[in-house]
Formats: sequence, structure tokens, C-alpha cells
Amino acid sequence: MIILLLGSGGREHALAWKLSQSERLTKLFAAPGNPGIAQHAECVDLDPTHVESVVAFAREENVGLVVIGPEAPLVAGLADRLRENGILTFGPNRAAAQLEGSKGFTKDLCQRENIPTAAYGRFRDAGSAKAALDSFGVPVVIKADGLAAGKGVVIAESRAQAENAIDDMFGGTFGSAGAEVVIEEFLTGEEASFFALTDGTTVVPFGSAQDHKRVGDGDTGPNTGGMGAYSPAPVLTPELEARTMREIVEPTVRAMAAAGIPYSGVLYAGLMLTAEGPKLIEYNARFGDPECQVLMLRLEDDLVTLMLAVAEGRLAELARPSLSPNTALTVVMAAKGYPGTPAKGGAIRNIVEAEAKGAKVFHAGTAEGPGGLVANGGRVLNVTAIGRDIGEARDSAYAAVDALDFASGFCRRDIGWRELARQRNVSAAAALD
Ligand code: AMP
Repeated sequence: MIILLLGSGGREHALAWKLSQSERLTKLFAAPGNPGIAQHAECVDLDPTHVESVVAFAREENVGLVVIGPEAPLVAGLADRLRENGILTFGPNRAAAQLEGSKGFTKDLCQRENIPTAAYGRFRDAGSAKAALDSFGVPVVIKADGLAAGKGVVIAESRAQAENAIDDMFGGTFGSAGAEVVIEEFLTGEEASFFALTDGTTVVPFGSAQDHKRVGDGDTGPNTGGMGAYSPAPVLTPELEARTMREIVEPTVRAMAAAGIPYSGVLYAGLMLTAEGPKLIEYNARFGDPECQVLMLRLEDDLVTLMLAVAEGRLAELARPSLSPNTALTVVMAAKGYPGTPAKGGAIRNIVEAEAKGAKVFHAGTAEGPGGLVANGGRVLNVTAIGRDIGEARDSAYAAVDALDFASGFCRRDIGWRELARQRNVSAAAALD
């Protein structure tokens, strides 16, 4: 099986690492890839959103399966064109990727199917959006409808802030993503990520995770693409996971199939665990980054077999995917300045020494410079480890972080804090008994 993997981040390095462990793989191409991915794949200089070039390359090289990592090529319709050309593809068609690409589309689907989510309204002009604020109170959540690289969401604490956010979005701050605005009821609870694999008909759980969006320790500072994650997220108990499947994920997959736009690939549900149960905040049409890194460390099955079954509509023939009961944790090392303007070109050394501490170092934004590996992006490395519990995984990951020589980088020192605090409270309570 010749596979083409699209993307260039830590998520794709983790996928490349896992795909390359399969005996079914004969050749792995990656486009555009990165120096970490290049350890497992032949990297080719193709832009994943240039749909026709990707299709031509896949045909020419007899690619048997294309794995689409990021969302942009999905929304650009790459999966549709690959399937039209008879090429098996892991990732949804453009219409199905609207689950991520249009918040309004997803909210309407939830309403029709009675899927638990925040109350909402969709608006095409500032006047009607502002008028609707009366019925929401504060805080209230204002969202640009389309893809805005995770930045199109404002939690407004006051009416004035909400009105400013509405003006900004219709004023073009998020480009065409803000041509429509969704206003949502503010939900309270703990957030968790839940993953499922589906071939359009069969849907199976694929693990949970929690991430750390803010740049600073103690969840301070601006939002980022994610500074770390761990899996599983014990807060999503087996009971809550079963409810999420039954009340949110399965009805979504059924509704998409019934509408003639079956969803195939990984479905990533961002959940709020409220007092009334799990509610959907958003869907993503691909793996999370860095959540994918921790899932791949826990995955015990052959990833090629799983992805092929998804792409061929044969998921029902396989046993449920098997993830290790152990905990995986990843610490993102970013270049100083991130999420503003990150310092480029900083030297990275001692990856071998770091991995000797029992961690896997996935590359995100790195490049091969004349003198060796250098930083080439905001998020640079994902130092990922697995252990019997979150404490053990955390200790291995930070031992590896400390063995790295990356003077122009930084990381959060408290990845996993929420779960570690919860565990300490539980054991303190147990000690009192
Ligand atoms: P989204 O891009 O829709 O996932 O939103 C980004 C972040 O905004 C989420 O991870 C939540 O922390 C927050 N958020 C989004 N929608 C809501 C909501 N209805 N209530 C509370 N927080 C929300």
C-alpha cells in the first residue's frame, strides 16, 4: 500500500510515525511534510490545498490511500476530487466537512436532531444580531460562522463587548468567515475532546483528550492552537462517553447519511460537560493537534488497517479500535513570541538525548538549517510520553523537555494540572477516610 499523507505539523508527524509501523505500508509520501515526518516518509513539495496537483500526484504515483491531516484541504473539496478519481481517501468530502467549516450548519443539524448543544441564533447583519442579544444575557458567545483558525470566537462579558465583537466580525476581521455570525448561550462546565472514527454508517469511539489552549501556566494569556494535551480524559467517564456516542455522535452520523452527505473520517467533538450532561460546542473534521499525538501513542491497532476500513466503508468488519489504558501526555514547545510573532531560526539540539528519557519528540514547526535543526513556526516540537498514570507520563515528558537544548523555545510547565489536582483531591479525601 502506497500512502500519501497531507500536512506538515506535529499531528502529521504522529500519523506518519504510526502509519510507518504498519507492515501493510510499502511507501509513504508526505506533502509538504517536515524534518520529523521525513524520518518516515518521502516529503514532496505539494500544497495540500492545490487540489488538482494533489490528485495528479496521487494518480501518477499509484497512491492507494490519501490521508488528509488538516482542515483546509477538506473544506477545499480535496476528498471529493480524490474519490471522483477512484483514490481511497481518509477524510470527509467538502459537504460533510461543513460540520467544521460552518458553525451555523452544525447548529441547525443539532437543532433538527435534538442533539444537546448551546441555544443559538444565526445572523447575516449586525442590526439583527445586536437586537437578538436581549434574549441571551451575558456572558454570551459570538462566533464567526466559517473557518477562522480557531480565532473566530469571542466570549463577551458585557453587552458592549458583544456589540463590538459583532461589529468586528461583520466589519471583516475574519474575512469571509464572518459574513455570517452565530450567537450562542454561554455554557459552563469542563471541556473535553472526544474522537470517533466513522465510514459514514458505522461509528466507533476513538478516545478522549483534554487540551490546554492558553499560552501561560495556570491557563493565563492569549489562546493558542494548543500548548499540550493528555489522553484519556478521565472526566469523560465511560458513562459520559456512552452518552456522547448515543446523544451526539451517532445521531450526527445518521443525520449526515440521511441527508445524502455521509461523513467519513475522524469526527472530533469538542464537548462541554455541563450539569445536564455533555453538550456539543463544535465539531472538527480532522484530528486535533496536539490531541492526535497522544492518541497515536495510545493506539494499539494498525493505523493503516483502520484508515483503510474507514475509507472503504468496512469499519463494521473490524473490532472496536484498541487504545492503551495508560495515559499519554504531550508538552508543546513553542518559539518565544508565540502566539504573536514567533522567533524563527533558533537552534534545536539533543532530540536523541530527550527521547532517551522515554519520550517521543514529534516535529511541528521545524526546518533543516545549514547548521542543523531550527525552529520554523509557532509551535515547534511536541514532547510526548506515555505512563501508567498521568503523573508518570508528565514526569517522562518534562524529563525529555529538560534534556532538549532549545534556548529560543518555551513551554508550559503545568500540562495535566487539572487532572493531577483532581487526583490529589481524591487521594486526600481517601486519606481522610
Ligand atoms: P470553538 O471554536 O467553537 O470550539 O470555540 C472555542 C472555545 O470557545 C471553546 O473551546 C470554548 O472554550 C469556548 N466556547 C465556545 N462556545 C462556547 C459556549 N457556547 N459556551 C462557553 N464557551 C464556549
